[in-house]
Amino acid sequence: MKIVLFWFRRDLRLNDNSALNAALKSGFKVLPLFIFDEEILFSLQKNDPRVQFIYQKLTEINNQLLSYGSSLLIKKGNVEKIWRELIKEYQIAEVYFNKDYEPYARQRDTTIFDLLDDNQIKVYSFKDQVIFEESEILKKDGSPYTVFTPYKNTWLNRFKINAIADSSSLQKQNFFLFRSPFPSFEQLGFQTSAIQVIDFNLNIGNYAQDRNFPQADSGSYLSPHLRFGTVSIREIILQLNAKDEIFLSELIWREFFMQILFHFPKVVYENFRAKYDGIKWRNNPDEFKKWQEGKTGFPLVDAGMRQLNQTGYMHNRVRMIAASFLVKHLLVDWRLGEAYFADKLLDFELASNNGNWQWAAGTGCDAAPYFRIFNPTEQLKKFDKELKYIKQWIPEYGSADYCPPMVEHKFARQRALEAYHNIVSLS
Ligand SMILES: Cc1cc2nc3c(=O)[nH]c(=O)nc-3n(C[C@H](O)[C@H](O)[C@H](O)COP(=O)(O)OP(=O)(O)OC[C@H]3O[C@@H](n4cnc5c(N)ncnc54)[C@H](O)[C@@H]3O)c2cc1C
Repeated sequence: MKIVLFWFRRDLRLNDNSALNAALKSGFKVLPLFIFDEEILFSLQKNDPRVQFIYQKLTEINNQLLSYGSSLLIKKGNVEKIWRELIKEYQIAEVYFNKDYEPYARQRDTTIFDLLDDNQIKVYSFKDQVIFEESEILKKDGSPYTVFTPYKNTWLNRFKINAIADSSSLQKQNFFLFRSPFPSFEQLGFQTSAIQVIDFNLNIGNYAQDRNFPQADSGSYLSPHLRFGTVSIREIILQLNAKDEIFLSELIWREFFMQILFHFPKVVYENFRAKYDGIKWRNNPDEFKKWQEGKTGFPLVDAGMRQLNQTGYMHNRVRMIAASFLVKHLLVDWRLGEAYFADKLLDFELASNNGNWQWAAGTGCDAAPYFRIFNPTEQLKKFDKELKYIKQWIPEYGSADYCPPMVEHKFARQRALEAYHNIVSLS
């Protein structure tokens, strides 16, 4: 029997899943597949909490599929090799998946597309994780936006929700009825982590007023859910009210950075603004370690880094301050900080992480100007006046056990200004 394969990737849900919905309407029976990609796993610890989250979501999906008489086929290994085996094992008429815009994924998908095409298998890929993708929002002259506000204005002008995939095709007769053994976490070679992704919360009534205050805890915690597609961006945006304008704006930042990465993939390794290429980073390993461990002596930076190390999350304002401190106060290359965040953040997402780090370093599109250097002590007075956030994460704060500041703010500020200024004046 000819069937179609639906390939889950960063869209770990059955509801309002664009490609799955199309597959279920194809007229063929659908076999759902997930591949743990060796290439990605290679750089992760065995107890990476994000892998654990993926596994939890796959378990939920498999349980849902069982109620349709189907199940999830789970594979682990080299993606191309696995597809070659699948082509031999099943009579595949078509393959469906949702697009992933990251450079590695695009390259991998092109290889798989060619392989399937060589085997006369049709491939259909869909937009799913964003409202607007690739070149849908461009300037009048056809070039991509590199400044947020005009991008956002065009985004809002074009915005209408007209593509909510209906879930009515989620019916038993559309699935390939089979029972695939579901491997245990240990069988897959993973180990459990104490760090867990928490549920998101769309009760964001005071978001506009509170979002900059870490202790107010007004964030939605949506980011890992959007990262792995366990919720639909369309369903989230449909639930917002007109007063949630600022929150919507944050979601548009996410798409802004995704289209930057799509149009300028060089940002993964290079400054968006080449004029900063010659900055002489100090990259002192001992100082970098103190920053990683939350032992800089600047309480807001330290509280943020400890929150990150212990929970895989850091409040957005604190991320901005911690990133700025590393790059400007310590003159450590933003790429090192970006890699540390990529390793630790549950919501690590290449486009947002890279875009925000380049923003903090002043090297990115629409970035903070290089001479804007956060004063972490002033930021603390403004955003954690009652010291609640720092006391939560630095138990020894206020005692002799807490380390003194590792660098003097005025001195570090001047040093950063000179390092940047030397480059700017040369260009
Ligand atoms: C140095 C640095 C690195 C970052 N790395 C990442 C990352 O790897 N992955 C990631 O998802 N976000 C990243 N962010 C953006 C932001 O900090 C997180 O999205 C946010 O803190 C997640 O918490 P939340 O879901 O409660 O956010 P909320 O405040 O509730 O915002 C809702 C959603 O809007 C989006 N959003 C909010 N702020 C931003 C932003 N500045 N840029 C892009 N999207 C945004 C996210 O999808 C977020 O889930 C980074 C920010 C900085 C300053």
